[in-house]
This record gives sequence, C-alpha cells and structure tokens, in this order.
Amino acid sequence: MGTLIKGGKVVSSTSTTLADVLIEGETIARVAPGIDAVGHTVVDATGMLVLPGGIDVHTHLDMPFGGTTSADDYEWGTRAAAIGGTTTLIDFALQSMGRPMTEAFTTWRTKSDGKACIDYGLHMAVTDLGPNDAWLDDVNAMVAEGISSFKIFMAYPNVLMVNDATIFKLMQRTAKLGALVCVHAENGTVIDVVVQQILAAGNTGPLYHALSRPVETEAEAVHRVVTIAELTGASVYIVHVSCEESMREVKAGRERGLPVMGETCTQYLVLSIEDDMGKPGFEDAKYVFTPPLRKKKNQATLWEALKNDVLQVISTDHCPFRFADQKTLGLGDFTKIPNGGPGVENRMQLAYHHGVNEGRMSLERFVEVTAEAPAKIFGMYPRKGILAFGSDADILIWDPEAKYRITAATQNMHTDYSIFEGFEVKGNARQVYSRGECIVDGGKFTGRVGRGQYLRRGLGEVLAG
Ligand SMILES: [Zn+2]
Repeated sequence: MGTLIKGGKVVSSTSTTLADVLIEGETIARVAPGIDAVGHTVVDATGMLVLPGGIDVHTHLDMPFGGTTSADDYEWGTRAAAIGGTTTLIDFALQSMGRPMTEAFTTWRTKSDGKACIDYGLHMAVTDLGPNDAWLDDVNAMVAEGISSFKIFMAYPNVLMVNDATIFKLMQRTAKLGALVCVHAENGTVIDVVVQQILAAGNTGPLYHALSRPVETEAEAVHRVVTIAELTGASVYIVHVSCEESMREVKAGRERGLPVMGETCTQYLVLSIEDDMGKPGFEDAKYVFTPPLRKKKNQATLWEALKNDVLQVISTDHCPFRFADQKTLGLGDFTKIPNGGPGVENRMQLAYHHGVNEGRMSLERFVEVTAEAPAKIFGMYPRKGILAFGSDADILIWDPEAKYRITAATQNMHTDYSIFEGFEVKGNARQVYSRGECIVDGGKFTGRVGRGQYLRRGLGEVLAG
C-alpha cells in the first residue's frame, strides 16, 4: 500500500515525461507510465508537473549577526521553505573566532534538531584555524559528521574574514579530502576603507551600503580565490555571484578546466538598484544585503550564465531581519544595518516564473538549478534531487497555472516586509512531500515540527564546465 501520484509530467534535468510516481514509505518505489492503482492511495496529478523537491543550499536561520539574530529560526524558516516547495536546505554552522569548529557544529545542531520541518545539512563557516593551525584537523572531523563543504568569508574584517594564508591552508586540506570550499568573495579590506571614506563625507543612508561595495571588489576576490584554488587543487564554489564582472571570473576558471562552480540568488535575478533602491527615508534598508543589489543589466547576464552552465545553482542567501526593530539598528549609520533579506519561501516560484514562463531557461534546467545540481555538488545525490527508484520521496506536485501574488501580508517568513512585495507569479507548489509524507497541501503546512532530519552528506561532485 503506497501513495501513487498519477497522471502528471515528471521532470528531471534531462527529460519531461508523462509518468506515475509510486511512494512506499519514505522513498520512491517506482517511476513509470500507467502504474496499476490497485491497493494504493491515488493522488491525481493530471495537468500538474511532478518535480523533485527544491534544495536551497544557502540559508542563515537563527544566525547571530550585527548584534541581533536572523528572524527565522529553524522551525519558521524550514516551514516557510516547505510551503514554497523547498524540501531540503543547507544552512551554515558558524565557527566563533577562538573556538573550534566542533563546537559550532554542536551549537547549530542544538538550534536545529527538534525544530526543522524539512531535512537539512550544514556547511561549516571557518573563521579560525586555531593555535598552530591545530583546528585544520577539525575539517576531517567535520567531513566525518557529514559536513563536506566549508564556507569562508573574504569580507567582514575582524568579524568573519579570513586572510589568504588561511584560505590557502584550508584549501590544501579540502583538496586532500575531496571536500568543497564555498566562498563569499568580496575584497573586505578595500571595502572597509571605502566605507570609512563614505561615512566621513557624511553619507549614512542605506543606499551607501550598495555604493561602498562596487562590482570590482567582488570580481577581484573571485579571481583571487580561484587562483588559490588552482594553486592547491581545491574545488571551489562561489556563493551569491551578483554581477557580470564576477560571473566572468567564474567562467574563466571553468574554461581553464578548473573545478570552479557558482550560484546566484533570486534577488540578483529579479531585483536591481534602479528598481528597488533610492526609496525615501529608510526604506532601502530592506534591501541591504551583501553583495548589494546591482544594476539591472546584470539580471540578463546572470540568467544567461545559469542557462549556459557558467553558474549551476539558484539559492536565496535567506537571512531575514525585521524592518521595525532590526533593520532600524542602522538608522543614521548604514554599517549597522543587519545584512540580509527574506527569500527562502519564494525561490521556486520566482525561478519558475521568471525563468521558465519568461523563456530564460527550460523546465529541465529549472529542475537542475533548483534541485539536481545542488544535490550533486553538495553530496546528497541521488538520495535527493531526482525522482527515481530508491530516492527519498521529496516531491512537488507543481501547478503550472496557479497564480500567486507575493506579499508580506500572507508570507510565512517572520519578517514584516517582503523584498518581492507585489510580484505576481504563475506556477506554485500544490502539494509538497518530504520523505513520503505530505507536509504542504494547498499552501498550508500539514507536517510536524521537528520531523526534519539532519543530513550526513557525502563528498560532492564537481560539475565541470
Ligand atoms: Zn550568506
């Protein structure tokens, strides 16, 4: 006795076919046309797309930043993700300077276990290699715990930034292990000088956050870290590529045959400095995230890069802060605005509508950049990211005709605003299954809080150019 999703079009990165999907327990027992319904509970998916559950590999739930904590904890963030069609996410455990990585792992599992509504993994954000680099051995320990990707920041000096020597040593180790380094690429020391000069000139509003981080500071850091990766033989994944200049550095690395990959995020694909900043008063603070919004011309470039496999993934960098009492910490000084925006709930809708409906990518490529490629790169494939025999039954019944208007008034993320306020999309998750259980039905969460499991990830694949 299983659940039979009948009559829909099943989509993978390579095909779209009319087929039924049989779920038995937590996994997929069969994908084939015309499966006999006798003995099964039938879910009619006529006219629907049947997609692998979305995978968002870049979120920051319950994360301390700038004197406050991101507004979605693991319960609220993963519930919002599920409602939007994301059934797996990878969040970041953040190593405190002066403390070992193993401690951060324990801290983040305490935040997440018993709260997550969907399955989740962790990256380790590395800030400190410890006395005599002793904590480099933590990298091995983390890989054994299922953390096969390590994040470094080339921005935020004295808070999160690591220097090139640390990057080099970390990459020597990950290269040896076959683990991945994810990079926030911005030249943090140059940006800090620009910031001080802007503040000294009396410019304190949120728009200056964007103006203090020009595209060259991002592209330079991408170039530098790709070079260090080349020196060490490490695989590298550039997070939140926001502009053409950085995209070109990723492309150059891939064209040289290096194991360089990259993602962009929904906000860089549909928002811009022209359309969304320059609002009166302090409103722009809602759009203060890093890298900042860029000029509108970059949107087309980033869509092209996704289509042409220069970039492999769409994520969100979901890092929500309320406007009323968190973003306002930066009134009168843009450097004190908590960096980040809410997005985990809207990624699949926006990528589908602006990608597939508007002809910027095929349906198959949409499935690839939102589920299959993230599963492969981050060591979860084929358990996640594909609808096939033996895979976890993480399934979206996706209504391609459903119209939806994004607004803070009805969203499930815990912010008092939406960066996509008023966006109209067509295409939305009608039902969401996670390991065989229907956890979202008609936009309502029907699962149990804490049902999400920590994913012990294996080593990922390099999706080479
Ligand atoms: Zn981030």
